[in-house]
Amino acid sequence: MREEAERRARAAGHAAGEDAVRRASFDAERLADASAPKVDTVPLFTVDTAPVLTIGTGPTASTDPPVSNRMPAPSAPQPERAPVLLADPASTPARHVRTRRLTRRIALIAGLATGAALLLGSSAVVTAMMAPPAGVTGTAAALTVAPPTIQQLPVPDVDESPPAADLCALPTFTNALQAGDDEGAVVAAGGGEAFRAAVVDGRAPCVNLSDSSRIWTVLDKHRPASPIDYRPSSLVLPDGVRNIEGGALRADAASALSAMVTAARVAGAGELALESGFRSYQTQQATYGRHFAERGEQADLVSARPGYSEHQLGLSADVVACAGSCTGLDELAASPQGQWVVQHAWEHGWIVRYIDGATPVTGYTPEPWHLRYVGTALAKAYHDGGWTSLEEFFGLEGAPDYLG
Ligand SMILES: [Zn+2]
Repeated sequence: MREEAERRARAAGHAAGEDAVRRASFDAERLADASAPKVDTVPLFTVDTAPVLTIGTGPTASTDPPVSNRMPAPSAPQPERAPVLLADPASTPARHVRTRRLTRRIALIAGLATGAALLLGSSAVVTAMMAPPAGVTGTAAALTVAPPTIQQLPVPDVDESPPAADLCALPTFTNALQAGDDEGAVVAAGGGEAFRAAVVDGRAPCVNLSDSSRIWTVLDKHRPASPIDYRPSSLVLPDGVRNIEGGALRADAASALSAMVTAARVAGAGELALESGFRSYQTQQATYGRHFAERGEQADLVSARPGYSEHQLGLSADVVACAGSCTGLDELAASPQGQWVVQHAWEHGWIVRYIDGATPVTGYTPEPWHLRYVGTALAKAYHDGGWTSLEEFFGLEGAPDYLG
């Protein structure tokens, strides 16, 4: 009964009083100021760093520290960049200078030799000049030294290497972006990992992680919906899914949920139902308000303030397991359906947003039932990389609590 009551309460919505709403608005303004420069301040890397940061070289599960080590320091600097930046300045300039001087000498000598050859008009004469007894001993000696050194000529030069690829200069990417085809844009970027790496490296300035209408949007206690009472332009009921509260989702998320629920059934995992989908700003006020009345400040660990719930995006689904009747949210994790979700939800574009161990980053206790749609390409990158939060996935600082 406790669970049932809690579930009902949770399902019903979280309402903050007017204080919380005011605070939320204030936070939103602060966030807008605080988060906007984030992308801009990501350093543009010199060409020396480019090979490290190119598409496909992003972190994988094996290179990431375990969750337990990563969580306490969400804002720690990313370690892999610094050594690259620090290593070169000390040694390379001198080496380059030496190479250039030598190169100039070689070029001069080679030029003289070529000039002489042209004047004499015969390769046979050049061969004769290179023989030791020739009268031009100085030039001949230089020529015998030259070949091995000349091979070094192509090695420099940093100045002429192409700049790092900018996703926003890619017409297929920007066209998809303008058409609102988020999934198409990620594919045009080269896939989820390439998209992620470009965003993290500052090579995608036209991608706004705070745009509430995008599948890649990050919404958490530092990053509210924009505007705060954002509502998706269209919402639909997912086909073929038992719908406990009549929850709607954005069309792309709805069809992805239908596909996932069907796949689970076909795989023999059992039935999944949608407990809660889209919740408006006003609904969330009521939901959070109930949690706050019960728990006070602790409500923030289990319920979002209005404007800060992913449900407001139409991209989140709370799912439950059914076998005849449906069980509650808390029962999902131990069910066959819940285990299937952990392993396969990503194949349909969903990630489990609040997992065990990620509370210091997400600000929420684990919610195995709360799925967030990010599209199949990004979900694959998230899964393959072993990521445990969307914040870390996009290189953002954690959001354990509200700002201010
Ligand atoms: Zn939820």
